[in-house]
Amino acid sequence: MKVHNAEIVISAVSPKQYPETDLPEIALAGRSNVGKSSFINTLIDRKNLARTSGKPGKTQTLNFYLIENALHFVDVPGYGYAKVSKTERAKWGEMIETYITSRKQLRAVVSLVDVRHDPSKEDIQMYEFLKYYDIPVIVVATKADKIPRGKWNKHTSAIKKKLDFDPSDTFILFSSETKQGKEEAWQAIEAAIK
Ligand code: GDP
Repeated sequence: MKVHNAEIVISAVSPKQYPETDLPEIALAGRSNVGKSSFINTLIDRKNLARTSGKPGKTQTLNFYLIENALHFVDVPGYGYAKVSKTERAKWGEMIETYITSRKQLRAVVSLVDVRHDPSKEDIQMYEFLKYYDIPVIVVATKADKIPRGKWNKHTSAIKKKLDFDPSDTFILFSSETKQGKEEAWQAIEAAIK
């Protein structure tokens, strides 16, 4: 998809603030600093619509972006930031759980992991949670430019193994530096919202 129009429509905390439309939604989740804002900006050809996080874990809202009047990207606040209190973490969990388990417009979740490392405990929990609720997942392994091409397969296999990756899901190697995986990501998103 070539994106000409993308705008933030609301930062929501509770379901009554979610946009009242039937447009399909793609949620995006990942650890703080995984490259989620860079991924969104790459897909929509912007430099900084989705803010790259100076302060990881800061935004504790679901940010809804309207893309081409055709779908919403729902930016889920980054998890796994040590300085967040237990109470905040519990609130975060409740907000995500409510959204994911109740939102009819949700078609798929883009789950971002860093290609260089094994998935974290939170990455694995998130994937298990999504599979439990039968939500299609597009796993995006970010920062592919940071490891040599010869190691891509090894890292991909390790990540899939740790996640107990469901072969009916999509796995994409991605780099916001080289734009590798951009077309594949759009294809997966377009297939999910059809
Ligand atoms: P977020 O916290 O998940 O939204 O992560 P950001 O998009 O803000 O990225 C965190 C840091 O990783 C920033 O310094 C980015 O420039 C860098 N980064 C993100 N994606 C890539 C990538 O594909 N390649 C490289 N080399 N750096 C990246």
